[in-house]
Amino acid sequence: MTIRTRFAPSPTGYLHIGGVRTALFNWLFAKGQGGQFILRVDDTDQQRNVEEALAPILHGFRWLGLDWDEGPEVGGPHGPYYQSQRADKYQAAVDALLASGAAYRDFASTDEIQAEREQAQQAGEQYTYSRRWMAESEADIAKFEAESRQGVVRLKMPREGELVLNDLIRGEVRFQWAREQDHVVQRADGSCLYHLATVVDDYEMQISHVIRAEEHLSNTPRQVFIAQSLGYALPEFAHLPYVAEPGSKNKLSKRKLEKYLKNRDFAQLKLRGESIAERLNLEIDADVFNPVIVDFYEQIGFLPDALLNYLLLLGWALDDKTEEFSREEMLAQFSLDRVNKAPASFDPQKLFAFQDRAMQELPIKQKVARVLPFLQQAGAVADPPACETAPILTKIVEAAGDRIKVAGDILDYLDFYTADEQLEYDEKALNKRIRKADGAAELLAEFRQRLVDVDSFEADALETALKTFVEEKEIKIGQIVHAVRVAVTGKPVGFGLFETMAILGRERCLARIDRALVRQPLNHDDTTSTTTH
Ligand code: GLU
Repeated sequence: MTIRTRFAPSPTGYLHIGGVRTALFNWLFAKGQGGQFILRVDDTDQQRNVEEALAPILHGFRWLGLDWDEGPEVGGPHGPYYQSQRADKYQAAVDALLASGAAYRDFASTDEIQAEREQAQQAGEQYTYSRRWMAESEADIAKFEAESRQGVVRLKMPREGELVLNDLIRGEVRFQWAREQDHVVQRADGSCLYHLATVVDDYEMQISHVIRAEEHLSNTPRQVFIAQSLGYALPEFAHLPYVAEPGSKNKLSKRKLEKYLKNRDFAQLKLRGESIAERLNLEIDADVFNPVIVDFYEQIGFLPDALLNYLLLLGWALDDKTEEFSREEMLAQFSLDRVNKAPASFDPQKLFAFQDRAMQELPIKQKVARVLPFLQQAGAVADPPACETAPILTKIVEAAGDRIKVAGDILDYLDFYTADEQLEYDEKALNKRIRKADGAAELLAEFRQRLVDVDSFEADALETALKTFVEEKEIKIGQIVHAVRVAVTGKPVGFGLFETMAILGRERCLARIDRALVRQPLNHDDTTSTTTH
């Protein structure tokens, strides 16, 4: 048997972290066994523009490298893959259910159903529809229609016995048929409900395993009833525990951002994202620029594999120690029997640790390739880049080391790309280290001359030059090193000073020192840390 799984997103305009986890498990399960993964668009209730609302979802899948064998844009032998385009197939299924008596036309009004429901509630009884407005013949239909009633199609669900299902994650699950209602499968306007659509599609698309969120477990009996009534063989079911909020057992939701921001790690992740977005002048849609949404991670420069690795462990474990999985290892190792039954809570700090580690393990060339688009987006580097871009950027990335945790962190080093005459100075640092420190400006001017003369403008040689200078002048290293840093970078802190200088090169260092030396204090209170051109 070929393994075929599917993910059936509703086009909502965003890809939720929990949804991706479900998709990932489907993808791994199928692809790891040489099977196929299908994307199907659940747009039966869609009001909005479907293509527009689907685009970010497909984009997210592509970014993550979760490719689909059949579905939107790629097509396939079981299309169309949009439920809104499959109405004829659903109608045929409804007709078959009506013909076999597994479903009936019903003409009750919402108020009548509600009244029955309330009556049962007051009597403290389990509600069961009386079927008083069920049409059993053409004559019934004519009679109800003469009363201007609108008909829906309901399932004639069993009222006794039980359904025993073997869920691949939850084990044996039992459902009492008496607890089920006569669910509607087709509305008065002729549109069909998701429950019918999903059963028909899973069958026609030859889905072997339905792996989905646990909230659909309660939908399964009615879906099984539909499938069996239509004579379909059942797929295997596997209901995944949901992804929970940070530090809680409640389901992670896109809407509760405010609440999650009370979690320090979550807030920090969001802040980091915002600072990157700000420097890129990204227009942030606050609703979607949210660590619950996959797009957020792409925008700040996460590695897709790190995100997938983290999501894999949200509910699955190989053993009690292995945490790092390459894509190939995930595919080779994943199995449903190691999926946890309990919800796993989303831990932004842990996710970030995965990213950090993956970034540090990335070969330098790939790291450079990851950060480059951020510099291009910021307008610092041309697209396509000039030939000197890569060697310089490689040096910056090497010198920055583990300071670059997401690709967007490269924006901390934009000053390398700032024209020397436009370098912004931290006024406070400039005052402290050059203007107001005794003799600092003179020392800096003198050291500048050494930089003119030093043979090789490499980090080692620069360090030796500075040390020699310190010895000869009989000063403390702190008396010159801070002044040089502020002069050439504008800032009081940063990565290795000598590496920084070597990357900038002699000419630019000299130009920056000259500029720092002649800069006048700002007119206003010069103890503030305002930076200016
Ligand atoms: N569109 C449904 C959802 O997103 C699909 C449910 C299913 O997998 O059957 O929850």
